[in-house]
Amino acid sequence: MTSITDLTLDLAAVRRDFPILEREVHGKPLIYLDNAATSQTPSAVIDCLSDYYRRYNANIHRGLHTLADEATAAYEGVRAKVQAHLNAFEPREIVFTRGTTEAINLVANSWGRANLKPGDEVVISLMEHHSNIVPWQLLERELGIVIRVIPVDDRGVLDLESYREMLGERTRLVCVNHVSNALGTVNPVAEIAKAAHAHGALILVDGAQAVPHQAIDVQALDADFYAFSGHKVYGPLGAGALYAKASILESMPPWQGGGEMISRVSFDRGTEFAAIPHRFEAGTPAVAEVVAMGAALDWVNALGIERLAAWEQWLLDHATQRLERIDGLRIFGTAPEKAGVISFVVDGAHAQDIGLLIDQLGVAIRTGHHCAQPVLARFGIEATCRASLAVYNTPEEVDAFVEALQRVLGMLR
Ligand SMILES: *Cc1c(COP(=O)(O)O)cnc(C)c1O
Repeated sequence: MTSITDLTLDLAAVRRDFPILEREVHGKPLIYLDNAATSQTPSAVIDCLSDYYRRYNANIHRGLHTLADEATAAYEGVRAKVQAHLNAFEPREIVFTRGTTEAINLVANSWGRANLKPGDEVVISLMEHHSNIVPWQLLERELGIVIRVIPVDDRGVLDLESYREMLGERTRLVCVNHVSNALGTVNPVAEIAKAAHAHGALILVDGAQAVPHQAIDVQALDADFYAFSGHKVYGPLGAGALYAKASILESMPPWQGGGEMISRVSFDRGTEFAAIPHRFEAGTPAVAEVVAMGAALDWVNALGIERLAAWEQWLLDHATQRLERIDGLRIFGTAPEKAGVISFVVDGAHAQDIGLLIDQLGVAIRTGHHCAQPVLARFGIEATCRASLAVYNTPEEVDAFVEALQRVLGMLR
């Protein structure tokens, strides 16, 4: 057991790591509460990017010169870091991608096209991000697969009874996020995976909102595929990863062709593809960004993911309690298990107007559909305001946000 003192956070030190937190917006100190869209970047990550271009920028894998060796070692070193971070069994189960979206498209286009036939069923939760819906809808049109949707209750919790009922002979894949970016719900992935596997189906987990907020163990979850984006876990834009069990990845055909993903190319004798994971990394990858994503994971681990999670939970409770006291404010997503996302609407005020006006007071929140239109439609709404937390946020910021919101509502209502 970790005691509460072990979990104490030196918040001032954490904040000093993020230069952007010092800036002002419209003459007010920035209060950044849009972390579910992208998190800010610590100096260690910014310096890592800069150091890469200053000292050892080179294309990887093919070179025999020193810079190419160093760049390759750094890039491949991050594969082992991601493996450790997700508790994957071996580094070759990690494929670098641009992010979650590209990881899911990889699975749809490679595994999906090779394995799905007309009438096969893909089960998708209603609370998925569009990036875990649309790739499957493209296959629905093209291959005639059938999409079945797991409903969500009034709290934003998946209806597991309906889910179990929809599993059957034709179920091939279950797609679910670990944490919902629109509602904050933490889904019981291990349980969902167990039921899928009992029907011979695979499970793809969108971990974009989970990796930043909790420890991940893909083996304990028994996930077949697990995707995340580096830029939501204090890394740079442009790099992320797909985890897939080695046996599944080995069975999958390439989805993009080009350099890096072949072992031999010939017009006469055919082309042989590289072993996993390189088979899925055609072309020059975002080497600097991948290396810096490794620095971001190092930063998180130096802080301690348990410490980070405990702080965010405390802050989430604090923010929820303060917001609940506002007259006419409704929070969407009241699941017992939640991560640092609060989606809300306020009677008599449009989300968009709130977002614009509160920005004038230095507060960055997101307004809109959060790329999750189906689940908002379930609640009869088209847009919410969403405040999302990161480890550098403070209670003072939450209080200032709530006060700013009250001022804005005073103007709008
Ligand atoms: C942000 C997000 C995505 C998409 O991630 P990209 O980095 O834009 O590819 C997918 N799913 C969830 C839950 C997200 O929050």
